[in-house]
Amino acid sequence: MLQSYFDTDNNGHKHKSFELPGAKPHYNPDRPGQVEHIFLDLNLDILNQSYDGTCTIQLKPVRNGIDRLTLDAVSLNIHSVQVDATSTTYDYDGQQLQVHLANPTQTGQSIKIAIAYSVAKPQRGIYFITPDKHYPNKPVQVWTQGEDEDSRFWFPCFDYPGQLATSEIRVRVPKPYIAISNGRLIHTEENGDYKIFHWLQEQVHPSYLMTLAVGDFAEIQDEWNGKPVTYYVEKGREEDARRSMGKTPCMVEFFSQKYGYPYAFPKYAQVCVDDFIFGGMENTSTTLLTDRCLLDERAAIDNRLTESLVAHELAHQWFGDLVVIKHWSHAWIKEGMASYSEVMWTEQEYGAEDAAYYRLLEARNYLAEDSSRYRRPIVTHVYREAIELYDRHLYEKGSCVYHMIRAELGEELFWRAIQTFVQDNAHNTVETVDLLRTIEKITGRNLLFLFDQYVYRGGHPEFKVAYTWDGDSKLAKVTVTQTQNELFDLKIPIAFGYTRESGVGSRESGKNAEGEISNATTHCKAFTVRVNEKEQSFYFPLEEKPQFISFDANNNYLKTVSLEYSIPELKAQLQFDPDPISRIYAAEALGKKGGLEALNALAEALKSDRFWGVKVEVAKQLAQIKLDQAFEALVVGLNDENPLVRRAVVEALGNIKTYASYKALKPIVEDGERSYYVEAAAARAIGIIAAAKLEEKPREEKVLKLLRSILENKAGWNEVVRSGAIAGLSQMKTSAEALDLILEYTRLGVPQALRLAAVRALGAISTGQSAANLERILERLTELAQESFFLTQVSVVTALGQMETPKAIAILQTLATQSLDGRVQRIAEEAVSKVQSAAGSEQAVKQLRDEIDQLKKQNQTLMSRLESLEAKAAN
Ligand SMILES: [Zn+2]
Repeated sequence: MLQSYFDTDNNGHKHKSFELPGAKPHYNPDRPGQVEHIFLDLNLDILNQSYDGTCTIQLKPVRNGIDRLTLDAVSLNIHSVQVDATSTTYDYDGQQLQVHLANPTQTGQSIKIAIAYSVAKPQRGIYFITPDKHYPNKPVQVWTQGEDEDSRFWFPCFDYPGQLATSEIRVRVPKPYIAISNGRLIHTEENGDYKIFHWLQEQVHPSYLMTLAVGDFAEIQDEWNGKPVTYYVEKGREEDARRSMGKTPCMVEFFSQKYGYPYAFPKYAQVCVDDFIFGGMENTSTTLLTDRCLLDERAAIDNRLTESLVAHELAHQWFGDLVVIKHWSHAWIKEGMASYSEVMWTEQEYGAEDAAYYRLLEARNYLAEDSSRYRRPIVTHVYREAIELYDRHLYEKGSCVYHMIRAELGEELFWRAIQTFVQDNAHNTVETVDLLRTIEKITGRNLLFLFDQYVYRGGHPEFKVAYTWDGDSKLAKVTVTQTQNELFDLKIPIAFGYTRESGVGSRESGKNAEGEISNATTHCKAFTVRVNEKEQSFYFPLEEKPQFISFDANNNYLKTVSLEYSIPELKAQLQFDPDPISRIYAAEALGKKGGLEALNALAEALKSDRFWGVKVEVAKQLAQIKLDQAFEALVVGLNDENPLVRRAVVEALGNIKTYASYKALKPIVEDGERSYYVEAAAARAIGIIAAAKLEEKPREEKVLKLLRSILENKAGWNEVVRSGAIAGLSQMKTSAEALDLILEYTRLGVPQALRLAAVRALGAISTGQSAANLERILERLTELAQESFFLTQVSVVTALGQMETPKAIAILQTLATQSLDGRVQRIAEEAVSKVQSAAGSEQAVKQLRDEIDQLKKQNQTLMSRLESLEAKAAN
């Protein structure tokens, strides 16, 4: 599953422990037997958001003498229960169904439990989407979401991933709707105003992967190796479907090769549904995706999220659906691999530099969660609800772990181990130890040291690296400090770079004590050292002084690193290091150093680096340097051919907050841009600048007028541009007019993506508003908190979490206790403590911050003049 498609910007929750009050160990239940087959026979009454039918479970008892079975079944109306066609008694408490067996079980003799039931207006598990007076154009759809433990809300089952069974869904739906489900369509039948669809899944899978999607979909046929690959979308979006999912057959081929196992199911369908509460869900052979992933032509310029989402859910068809996790605590096995498959696909499609950068961005997502929210072992079974585990540790850190395994084993052994893991465990369940055992079986390597440090305990190494050169003895000295508490013990390659042709050798550094790397312009000499103490100095005898130093050459380890080299080494690294991640680290170090020399080096890189990802990072660093010259350096980037670079430059221009940057951004807001995202970023940036304390700046009314005109005129794809305008308004914290405008867009009837952006914006704008306006915001959020839609609740929590008034806490507490969704409960609880600390210190801090800002600004003017004078003097 993938959640991160939505921009829910959960910034800065402070929470030390992953385990919230009430967290406890979770185990799979005892197994009465093996579920062999699940058959759902359902009639949908879509208009009334209800259905009835029969769930028949065939169970092969594990032993003799079992006289009752406990099934998960939440908020269902149970009409009757039969065992082997004979009515039987049962107890039902709304959570679990206890079936009494008149004849206790006999080993080897399967029994059939048939439960007749109905459901009206379900709250979870199955979702009925229908138009209403606010959204009359909403399509009619029904879809399900089982992961993690929500299948029990739509049919009775043994609801944990350790039980694998074949399944079958026969469903009657009103015409003209069609029903899509797991496996293959074995029968359809017209029945008056209704049509029956009968699907059969003949490969075993867990109950959380059973699905049903119903709607008046357009059906687009593709194929891979004779198997149907089908895209289902709302009618009229056929072209978007091809544009967004059209690479699927190539991906099926790619993953079949990589995992060493041809795609296992009879078809692969992707259904894009409305109001989906995740980005995507990998139901066996039938992935559901949010319809927000459908790209129009303009969005496709610089949206790679969709392609990654498609790759992620497809990868799950192997990791998750074919090889199933036995318990949620091991979900990183599938989520980590699905996230790593995004990296793999990026490498395949866009090359090694893009893949390395993708991996860095994943690492940063994890690092942000680790530093601002909590730290936990990737594998843990202590939680309140399993859904809490679906965080950045599980996905992104898990992905980084797979990458480290790959780096440790090398290309050939890694893929042989992964392929064996898939082959040995196909149609079966696994735990983390199974992966370790397969690696050992195939490669002889025991990777427990890696798992101990990165999987079974929290955290990562935080390195500080210093370098000096002793010209007399020709010794390079590299001092490595681990600044975190718990030390890591790793073998890390350190490479010394020279920028002219000298010698050739293997590009595989790292593994050998001494190796050589080379490419057209750069030559590196690499050593591997064991880093296992708080602070260690390493001495390397070299024939000549290196131009740059690559710590952890290739950057395979998940870590943070702060480079304490002098400017010449950093400049050379930014210019010549073959690894884009090293170039980015050098850019960060230069940004931290500041000064005109660093700025000029960054300015050059923004113009000339061959990789867009480095340019993006360089733009961010340029904005960090408090010199007026940063503007000149940045503004040329507005003409970069890559829209992702332009977006970063626009954001950076917003961050340096000058009148000049406003004037550079205004035309983008007024005249538009090729990319939606660049346009949105510009709208946000001018809001930031309008709110900054500047001597010379745009008039507030003018900026308001601009942003208002975007809201009135720029409706469009996923409301990206208009949401940018809302974000711009949210920065104008003292403006009552900006607030009025935002509030207007929180009303029902506003397109959902825009409305959610407006709801979230109430948080940011609240911190500078008058007491009376603050009350209006709180009132509005109180109303919005009553809405049950998951994404609305998340947005409300996000807004409240940014507020600095204790009054936000009461609303959050209500959501923390009353929301039906474990994720909402959790983030609401985390937001409470965030607001508590913000509300405590905010007033004093704010005044101080303003004063500091003023001083900084004055200092910047002086420094800028000084640096230019020095530069002139030097010439
Ligand atoms: Zn996933």
